Amino acid sequence: MSRLSHSEVHMVHRIGWLRAAVLGANDGIVSTSSLVVGVAAAGSGSAEILIAGLAGLVAGAMSMAAGEYVSVSSQTDAENADLSRERRELAEMPKAELEELTQIYVRRGLDRELAERAAVQLTQHDALATHARDELGISETVATRPVQAALVSALTFASGAVVPVLVALASPANKTGIGVAASTILALAILGGLGAVAGGAGVLRGAARVTLWGALAMAVTAAVGMMFGVSAG
Ligand SMILES: [Zn+2]
Repeated sequence: MSRLSHSEVHMVHRIGWLRAAVLGANDGIVSTSSLVVGVAAAGSGSAEILIAGLAGLVAGAMSMAAGEYVSVSSQTDAENADLSRERRELAEMPKAELEELTQIYVRRGLDRELAERAAVQLTQHDALATHARDELGISETVATRPVQAALVSALTFASGAVVPVLVALASPANKTGIGVAASTILALAILGGLGAVAGGAGVLRGAARVTLWGALAMAVTAAVGMMFGVSAG
């Protein structure tokens, strides 16, 4: 269906997948680290810090899965509704649909005669696929599986969130904040660089951007934690 060669299509898929994975891991690290740093800054003990981190990991992963499932499902529903309407229109008014397709090709730069020939040939070849692609903009390559997407989202989030949880597990309560902050900055820099490579952008800029936001998130929750810690004590 696509004009891209087989290997190019796979390349596009891999980059899209890698970028999504990096973004999910990023989310997991930033939100869970911020939570851990905030709870640690409030002067909590090791057990409380660890529970907060684990709860953050599970809650975040579930939330990502739910959000992804809903988003992918509703997109799939919308596409299926479009396709069945298109199927009906093709059956009920093939002439109008052929003219519609011809007009699309004329707008894209073909002259009337060539547009008509293209429309006729493509309609004979696979009318629904042609209308899906050229009229609705639905390509086969984005055929989506909601459960799979939800699972991948949860896993990538958890793979990032596990970093601050492990660091919190390994460090004494009074060192947790600084340990988590330092390891998070490092992990974010690596992920940011990776994401930049996957997206074809500059590595340093990608790393700096992600690291800055992570540091900001942790600074804000640390401040909140300290405020509540002080007011509670
Ligand atoms: Zn149509």
